[in-house]
Amino acid sequence: MSVWFVTGASRGLGLEITKAALAAGHSVVATARDPQSIEKALPDFADNLLALPLDVTVPGDAEKAVQSAVARFGTIDVLVNNAGRGLVGAIEETSDAEARSVFDINVFGLLTVLRAATPVLRAARSGRILNISSTGGMVAWAGWGVYSATKFALEGITEALRLELAPLGIQVTSVQPGPLRTDFLASSSLGHVSRVIDDYATTGGASRDWAASSHGQQEGDPVKAAHAILTIASAAEMPARLPLGTSTLGDIRTKLATVGADLETWQDLTRSTDV
Ligand code: NDP
Repeated sequence: MSVWFVTGASRGLGLEITKAALAAGHSVVATARDPQSIEKALPDFADNLLALPLDVTVPGDAEKAVQSAVARFGTIDVLVNNAGRGLVGAIEETSDAEARSVFDINVFGLLTVLRAATPVLRAARSGRILNISSTGGMVAWAGWGVYSATKFALEGITEALRLELAPLGIQVTSVQPGPLRTDFLASSSLGHVSRVIDDYATTGGASRDWAASSHGQQEGDPVKAAHAILTIASAAEMPARLPLGTSTLGDIRTKLATVGADLETWQDLTRSTDV
């Protein structure tokens, strides 16, 4: 049995991963801004569950949580960087502060947790890291540009980290869910830009409208997503990426085909710049 360390475990996908890992017999360090929410949700797992405070944007929280995790369970085998939130609005509508606040959680928060936890995995010369990305880490849509930028950044971090940690016995993967029926689109989670520009009504504005009408209607089941994450975490060789959901499969295939077609169409011009 393994020791899991999960960020953003108060609700949504993080809570479902915590439940699935506990049900499978693993020990879980479930972290959240309010860890009481985890204890309330999972009262029957006292022996295998350690709920700890961890706001990924607060300096020192991650180090303290990692120290407590090792003190209680001896190590960390599986790190799940799940904490994150969305932001909807056209690029020009998004203020500097709004963009930075979502980068602080989804990118710099993830880096903070990685710096705190990776030494434990490196010392053991084993372990798994699963970074929760998004279809938006592969494909950007109007109205989701800054959110996608955070997940594109996560993809770059994950791809490099996978190469850096493979020689040290640690596997890294990016999990790319499509729309999951969690609180992601709820007002308690999703950020909305405060400036609205009429010219973007049919692009960024349409995404705002979609977000408002789609909460609770998403195609993806977070319980099934959590089980898929447990499955991949126990695979002998984790893939670089695990897309989740039928629409994600189609969206990524379309993206790859578009990239491939552009490469072929413009290859002569592409080659023309060599010295
Ligand atoms: P939820 O809004 O239901 O859950 C988000 C979780 O992230 C909550 O536990 C929240 O904690 C936590 N969180 C937010 N900010 C911080 C912070 N500063 N420090 C620590 N924890 C924080 O959404 P999901 O469960 O769906 O989202 C989980 C992950 O999945 C995210 O990374 C998201 O980007 C990704 N994702 C989600 C998709 C979806 O459609 N649902 C699609 C693709 C990717 P709190 O309760 O304290 O707010």
